Amino acid sequence: MTKTEFEARENNLIDTYKNWFQDDHLKIGMYQIDYMPGWLEIIEELFSSIAQVLTPEDATNFKINQIKEKFGGLRFYYSGQGIRVDIQTGNGLVSMQEKTENSNLSIDTLIGAAEKKSQKTCIYCGDEGVLRVGGWVRVTCDKHEQMRAEGKTLEESFEEFTTPAKKH
Ligand SMILES: [Zn+2]
Repeated sequence: MTKTEFEARENNLIDTYKNWFQDDHLKIGMYQIDYMPGWLEIIEELFSSIAQVLTPEDATNFKINQIKEKFGGLRFYYSGQGIRVDIQTGNGLVSMQEKTENSNLSIDTLIGAAEKKSQKTCIYCGDEGVLRVGGWVRVTCDKHEQMRAEGKTLEESFEEFTTPAKKH
């Protein structure tokens, strides 16, 4: 992935879900993705699944506070008073309050799954990665761990970092 391609996808994400960002948080949240291009797809999928469970009225209450990397994993913080989600139950589609005991397909569940996936996804290329400790805790594939060890930075060799070692 070239830097131009990455930025286009990132901008598209911001445009599509513009209403979820508080203006002063827009840059802070997205700034963090700059350093995790390998997680862009996870974030795109997460946004799309959240959009599917948000009821129309709640879509305007839902606000992303921050997206960042912490202890090697993706962290996604949001706020929204009384957010409700549509959940498929035995009795059909039910709209219920987020974070209730009965809500098993909630925004938190989706975020939890994305965070879990990030813990084995190379932050640079999205390939399968391993959590590395020692210094900055990070998830990297072998190829990009090697590049890091050689002192290459994401900024100076974006394409090398964002190209998966193997094709899926
Ligand atoms: Zn990698």
